Amino acid sequence: MAHDIILVIEDEKDIQELIRFNLERDGYKVLSADSVEAAGKMLVKQLPDLVLLDLMLPGENGYDFCRRLRSEERTQHLPVIMVTARDEDADIVAGLEVGADDYITKPFSPRVLLARVRAVLRRRAVEPEDSADRLVRGPVELDRTRHAVRIDGRPVAMTLSEFRILELLLRRPGVVFSRYQIVDAVHGSDYPVTDRSVDVQIVGLRRKLGKCSDQIETVRGVGYRFRTDAAS
Ligand code: CA
Repeated sequence: MAHDIILVIEDEKDIQELIRFNLERDGYKVLSADSVEAAGKMLVKQLPDLVLLDLMLPGENGYDFCRRLRSEERTQHLPVIMVTARDEDADIVAGLEVGADDYITKPFSPRVLLARVRAVLRRRAVEPEDSADRLVRGPVELDRTRHAVRIDGRPVAMTLSEFRILELLLRRPGVVFSRYQIVDAVHGSDYPVTDRSVDVQIVGLRRKLGKCSDQIETVRGVGYRFRTDAAS
């Protein structure tokens, strides 16, 4: 929405200016910082609506900063989009695991930048995190207390793992979860993580979702998300 305040933390001046130009043209108010230290001082004075966070910064890096935002009550729900070098999947996964909401890879097009910003702001405005016992996303309905899933009102039998994965994705539609986060949600953090074990579960889950199977989107090299565009 226009007049939302966006804090851009980016040490490369050209990119910082490019981001500022495009956001301001779209009606956002932009604050810029060259480092995490500078951003921290700004955050004390004013809480923005969203943070665009470069990961590779002089001094404290973006990962540690994001982890810190999540650990502090005042900033724990502050939307963060990380900005990362292109195709470095490991960086993207690491960023999501410290709590970033989404990511943009450099070089990015202004259209992609604005689309991601709008989507994250919209998502956060609608639901910080849906903690309801009954989750309804389009034809998909999950009832946590009864441990039941319905598609178009028809019950669908799920394994416990499939149910937990679906619940995780439905609680925060549009958010990308890494395979590690998915395993953590299903088995707890002590469980050995293999990409394959998650992928196998997703195959089973998609099969059971039938016509809604494509709402679980594979984000290449990163993980999975429940698509919001098809969920309304
Ligand atoms: Ca940088």
